Amino acid sequence: MFERKRKEDILKKLRKARAKRVLIQVPEGLKMSSLDLVDFLEKNKIRTFLSLEPCFGACDLREREAKDLGCDLLLHIGHSDFGLKTKIPVIYEEYEIPCDPIPLLEWHLGKLDCDRISLVTTIQFVHCLERVRKFLESKGKRVFIGSSGKLKGGQILGCNYSSAKSLEDKVDCFLFIGSGRFHPLGLQESVKKPVFFLDLEKKNLTNFFRERERMETLRIMRVQKAKEFRNFGIVISTKPGQLNLEGAERVRKKLRSEGKNVYALVADQLTPEKLIGMKIDVLVNTACPRIREDFEQFGKVILDAEDIDLLEQ
Ligand code: SF4
Repeated sequence: MFERKRKEDILKKLRKARAKRVLIQVPEGLKMSSLDLVDFLEKNKIRTFLSLEPCFGACDLREREAKDLGCDLLLHIGHSDFGLKTKIPVIYEEYEIPCDPIPLLEWHLGKLDCDRISLVTTIQFVHCLERVRKFLESKGKRVFIGSSGKLKGGQILGCNYSSAKSLEDKVDCFLFIGSGRFHPLGLQESVKKPVFFLDLEKKNLTNFFRERERMETLRIMRVQKAKEFRNFGIVISTKPGQLNLEGAERVRKKLRSEGKNVYALVADQLTPEKLIGMKIDVLVNTACPRIREDFEQFGKVILDAEDIDLLEQ
């Protein structure tokens, strides 16, 4: 929902940037209400184009489309800037989701059996962290909120856990506050301390530490399975923040040296339909790690680029 104040703020920013023709990107959850924003901007003499492509992160800036449409600015709603260089100006309009995690946290506090805690979340809930810090400190816990580069304090991305990892030596556990398993699971895979997930949607608190072992076992199984196959596709995304040609080249060389058939598969976003009829057995992902969530739909072995080194062991 774009309340009046937010719409006026956006208009002010656009006017300050002297934008007259704008491509707007919104995450799925805001698409419905974005028409209201479009109406408001059009009434105020801003020519708008609304991108209907799915948008999961600031890695996915639709700069090329904006240029093709003759736009002078890209308005990217819902994610924060993580430093992508662009040829046209971008306004990042972060979108906070109102939340009050304290009653839920208080209810589950007994399960949070560690004293030094690092708080982590996604951009939509960063604004809640200070309240959580105060609450936990009042209960005798020591609380840390990490930072890294352009990320906000405590913010993680599914492809960047550096703000949490910077604190790993100082804390006993991590507390992720938000919704969806993708981020806390990814974090648990990349740190050795337990990750607790306070799920604001399902209203529970789960310790993911056991998942770490399970994920590692699954990874080894995927690698073992991949060894049996010959046809490997390297997934390369053309989204500006996901394009990783260097990584793809490394994977290609490595697989060739293992005697595999290698195909560089290029897509904005790879979906199972795009592979129909192709004899590819294993996908090696150099793009967004989210693809792993869809492995069942792909019906193929999916490896991360880093797993390639395990193939020869
Ligand atoms: S996790 Fe995926 S969608 Fe999110 S910022 Fe990283 S590459 Fe983009």
